[in-house]
Amino acid sequence: MFDGFQNETFQMRAILFCTINDFPTYGNLSGYSVKGHCACPICEEDTSYIQLKHGRKIVYTRHRHFLKPHHPYCGLKIAFNGSQEHENALVPLTGEQVFQRVQHMNTIYEKIQKMDKSKACIWKKRSILFDLPYWADLDVRHCIDVMHVEKNVCDSVIGTLLNIQGKTKDGLNTRQDLVEMGILASLHPRSDGKKIYLPPACHTLSIKEKINFYQCLRWVKVPQGYSSNIKSLVHLKDLKL
Ligand SMILES: [Zn+2]
Repeated sequence: MFDGFQNETFQMRAILFCTINDFPTYGNLSGYSVKGHCACPICEEDTSYIQLKHGRKIVYTRHRHFLKPHHPYCGLKIAFNGSQEHENALVPLTGEQVFQRVQHMNTIYEKIQKMDKSKACIWKKRSILFDLPYWADLDVRHCIDVMHVEKNVCDSVIGTLLNIQGKTKDGLNTRQDLVEMGILASLHPRSDGKKIYLPPACHTLSIKEKINFYQCLRWVKVPQGYSSNIKSLVHLKDLKL
């Protein structure tokens, strides 16, 4: 490199400090499988999950123990899944421990037949980043880009609040899964023989409240350059975003 101030060349040394990416990319970069029953890279085989019968999704549970010890949420039952969580959270693996899991891995880059589960392992490959001599010594090698998470969570919250078809996380399947899990009895679907009725939840908005929400969003004021023109995205007439 050339130093214009000193008017001389010098040898610059650089370090790849950490990567910033979304969760699927975390899987590609680290070599951990981020899908399926063991998708939590901290809990690994002990990842707590439920396969929803009606919603059909895998949901990952028992993560309240990652909160600070004695956090009030750990003792709550009804607000969550009907049980308390007081066990200690697992400690994330060090770079050295990850390296020990993957160092002898002989990765064959081809599609593994779905039936052959014996070959499947939660660590998929030895990340090429371990070629860097210091990579295993880093405490934090990968960071999740918060923007992706915020955007997805925001989409889901707004979709559920406004009950937007295709976006809401509430619905008959969700309520039937509550029945299956035996929690939140007040939200279980009820039937009068002809129609199935979903009791309103604490987040259900009336039409009037929805109009208020849309109006607030339409006239919201933000600093210049902060976001796109929200006004143009809100259709008050047909209550659409
Ligand atoms: Zn976990």
